[in-house]
Amino acid sequence: MPELVFFSGTMDCGKSTLALQIEHNRSARGLAGMIFTRDDRAGEGKLSSRLGLVTDAVEVEDGADLYAHLVDHLSQGGRADYVIADEAQFLAPEQIDQLARVVDDLEIDVFAFGITTDFRSKLFPGSQRLVELADRVEVLQVEALCWCGARATHNARTVGGVMVVEGAQVVVGDVTRSADEIGYEVLCRRHHRRRMTAASARAAALSPDVLPVSPS
Ligand SMILES: [Zn+2]
Repeated sequence: MPELVFFSGTMDCGKSTLALQIEHNRSARGLAGMIFTRDDRAGEGKLSSRLGLVTDAVEVEDGADLYAHLVDHLSQGGRADYVIADEAQFLAPEQIDQLARVVDDLEIDVFAFGITTDFRSKLFPGSQRLVELADRVEVLQVEALCWCGARATHNARTVGGVMVVEGAQVVVGDVTRSADEIGYEVLCRRHHRRRMTAASARAAALSPDVLPVSPS
């Protein structure tokens, strides 16, 4: 039976690496995949991993119908034995419904990869719809670690090095190099709740305010 599988996790948990591994294993066996992505760090129409691997992909635009895209591709004589959707948290809920239809009506496996929750620890709409519709959810337990050494389960956004919990859900980091530069960091839940990033923990450790005895 074909399946819709959601591989979920934090940033830096190796999702795109696994997506590329699945792509490699299947194409090595002569299977042809349709790869969708959105806002990959390597640029439009690319699926890349932090380890430096990259492959071509179809960039999903706002309002694109993924089911219709597959039907067009197949009716023009193209092949698609499986579908990979990376950065699936950025897809609209309707596009996740279209992927479920690809599984049910076209009988093609769909492997979706995405970050579960945003920097406020709220589900991304695309990830929420995947949790609702997927035949299987695989939570990736990769060695993403908080600065304290605990397993990192939450994504933090920083602005000028300070953790924030308000703002637009999707802001791609590393765009500007200013004092208000937006960055991302993975933390354990305890330090996400306390808003302690690696930088603020270091600053607290060095601050005289935290010494138990004031110098005389
Ligand atoms: Zn921690």
